[in-house]
Amino acid sequence: MKIIAIGRNYAEHAKELNNPVPTVPVIFMKPDTALLRENKPFYHPDFSEDIHHEIEIVLKVCKEGKHISEKFASNYYDEIALGVDFTARDIQQKHKEKGLPWELAKAFDGSAPVSNFIPKEKYGDLYKLNFKLDINGQTRQEGNTRDLLFSFERIIAFVSRYITLKKGDLIFTGTPQGVGKVNVGDHLQAYLENEKMLDFYVK
Ligand code: MG
Repeated sequence: MKIIAIGRNYAEHAKELNNPVPTVPVIFMKPDTALLRENKPFYHPDFSEDIHHEIEIVLKVCKEGKHISEKFASNYYDEIALGVDFTARDIQQKHKEKGLPWELAKAFDGSAPVSNFIPKEKYGDLYKLNFKLDINGQTRQEGNTRDLLFSFERIIAFVSRYITLKKGDLIFTGTPQGVGKVNVGDHLQAYLENEKMLDFYVK
């Protein structure tokens, strides 16, 4: 199982980090050791002073495919979840300046908390989904999938030109604006269409 993630997929988030709005999807990966399930606590790593939260819609791939056309891409994911793409922003910034890859900033242990998955049929229009992240009871990030730069189908078509997707793979689809630092003791709660999906602490 692999985790593929899309960067800069909401224009307002790209702008808040002074990044250009991309013309093709920006992708990176996290290993399976990044996955954190069942609202287990996230242990703040000691190698970063600036771990950021990025709340994202996560797709679960339901069958193997490569060179998937955008037209048929919706057949390749059947469930969605919320996830947090924890990012060591200080490390990422240094690596961006030097043109180095992002893995140390993105792929560390526990950097991918993921909620339970819900069949996508439960939702009418997947491009009108509200989601948000509260920290200590205050809303920090609010997004709506209508603002995605690259649709779920476009992401699957793009990624599968390069990397075969397999059943059980997860795709983080990008974060809206409002990213920021988490601290030890923070209580994170995330909602998809007003249903609580994540509820865990930073330790
Ligand atoms: Mg992200």
